Amino acid sequence: DAELVRSVDLIREVPDFPEPGVLFRDIGPMLSDSTALRAITAALGRDLEFDVVAGVEARGFLLGAAVAQHFGTGVIGLRKPGKLPAVADSISYELEYGHATLELPADTLAAGQRVLVVDDVLATGGTLGAACHLIAQAGAEVTAAAVVMELTGLRGRDNVSGTEIRTLLKA
Ligand code: 5GP
Repeated sequence: DAELVRSVDLIREVPDFPEPGVLFRDIGPMLSDSTALRAITAALGRDLEFDVVAGVEARGFLLGAAVAQHFGTGVIGLRKPGKLPAVADSISYELEYGHATLELPADTLAAGQRVLVVDDVLATGGTLGAACHLIAQAGAEVTAAAVVMELTGLRGRDNVSGTEIRTLLKA
């Protein structure tokens, strides 16, 4: 669809961010465009069945809240450590350099709920894989994971096995 093509075209490539040698995909200009935001939001959730959206800090919060609003569900923010007053569960995972943790806020997710996980970019898949594990650990079911952009060369899908992954743009 032409609107979707125009929308993902608004993603900027920023060389050497956050460190030398990395080509960062900046979705800011896409989010700030009203038509693009609507097209992306609709495409991320279209024809999927879910009771709630889980967005990954921080750009997944923006997209996740938009998707939830569009499809009439609530949204849960999966957070980096030290931000939540009450934590239901947490998961740590390996990054290319070092490790990271995601936390599920208390009293947000009920066992048996169908969850759509939303983030902006799938790179190594560590983040999305951890998010899906955290939700499964809580007794809920990940319907699918939806991201705007997949960096296919990093084979991130291999770290999110067993989950349907929807990506709107591959690079
Ligand atoms: P992964 O865990 O798959 O290696 O990295 C994905 C996480 O890092 C996502 O939460 C995503 O927001 C962030 N990330 C990694 N590379 C990029 C990038 O090029 N652009 C953006 N916007 N986010 C990235």
